[in-house]
Amino acid sequence: MKLGALNPPQRLLMGPGPSAVHPRVFEAIGKPVLGHLDPAFLEIMDETRSLLQAVFGTENKLTLPVSGTGSSGMEAALVNILEPGDHAVVCVNGAFGGRMADIVERYGAHATRVDSPWGEIVPPEKVADALNETPNPKVAAIVHVETSTGVLQPLREVARLAHESGALFLVDAVTSLGGAPVDVDETGIDVCYSATQKCLSCPPGLAPITFSERAVEAIENRRSKVASWYLDMTLISKYWGSERIYHHTAPISMIYALRESLRIVVEERPGARYERHRLHSAALCAGLEAIGLTLGAQEGYRAPMLNMAFIPDGVGDASARRRLLDEFNIEIGGGLGAFAGKAWRIGLMGESCSRASVMRCLDGLESILRSEGLPIPQGAGLSAAMERYESGS
Ligand SMILES: *Cc1c(COP(=O)(O)O)cnc(C)c1O
Repeated sequence: MKLGALNPPQRLLMGPGPSAVHPRVFEAIGKPVLGHLDPAFLEIMDETRSLLQAVFGTENKLTLPVSGTGSSGMEAALVNILEPGDHAVVCVNGAFGGRMADIVERYGAHATRVDSPWGEIVPPEKVADALNETPNPKVAAIVHVETSTGVLQPLREVARLAHESGALFLVDAVTSLGGAPVDVDETGIDVCYSATQKCLSCPPGLAPITFSERAVEAIENRRSKVASWYLDMTLISKYWGSERIYHHTAPISMIYALRESLRIVVEERPGARYERHRLHSAALCAGLEAIGLTLGAQEGYRAPMLNMAFIPDGVGDASARRRLLDEFNIEIGGGLGAFAGKAWRIGLMGESCSRASVMRCLDGLESILRSEGLPIPQGAGLSAAMERYESGS
């Protein structure tokens, strides 16, 4: 079989991840591969850990990228803390909270679910009730930005409640890290994981994770071995720590890529980066409303990097997204669960979060909706966004 050289199209990635990758990251990924015990590579690992600590906002020693996508970080977080028979309180207001509850049960632990409607936050009072009703809750788990709905969950009150009941506080920061403040130490998070391909703007393949001293103690005091060999932090930490004992071959080139993408995050400075996400999201949302869409997530708790909006009546979901891809080279996400076929999820993550992306996306959506017969005044989306930019708010 003879195939031509690989030639994927250049898309503007505005879905729920992956996001656009900076050329500097591609350069890093193309550097010479080293052995996983080469002293030069060990230094790169240490530098990557320091950068991760800075971006997570933590001094936790056990901070490293798990080999695998965001879900491997989720699984690593839960499987290292929980043993069969343990109890976990799991907040579920979307697909990823549901995935956490599923993982908890697969490893033989009990999940007390705190279900809240999709599109809304999980109220801290409901978490408090669940913690009270659960015998010896070992962990309280919550998603910071629920990518299935675009809700940004406030964390501090839940952290306080978890600690009051003696539980560890576990947070999914897959979509938030690099786009909104996570501040692991200040917030009081004991276990926090993320992924490379959302607001860190690196290709998918690694899941940064960090464990507090209390979390490390819980792992050290386990009665049984960690149920997953591949994700066992008691083994992986001996490779990332001073012992340098081989566990599995580190994904060398991906760690180069992560190091470079974190360097870019740190160079921009966190405050400026969060403000950039806020500003472009405000402009995008103004434009979406001007072309007849309704924002989906609970007001006051909308995540800037993932904007969910309801599709106007009479517009076909899949066909419109297909046209956006074919005619405008732009990818956006469809709805999940209760919102499947009803909403779009438009990502503004990391490198994809720019004025150019906002304008291109609004231009494409407006022209598709107009051609479907919607009475939108020409340029309505762009001028609403422009107005937001000019007011700066
Ligand atoms: C994307 C995502 C995940 C899963 O990450 P994968 O890289 O797809 O495995 C988990 N949690 C949240 C909130 C996400 O957005």
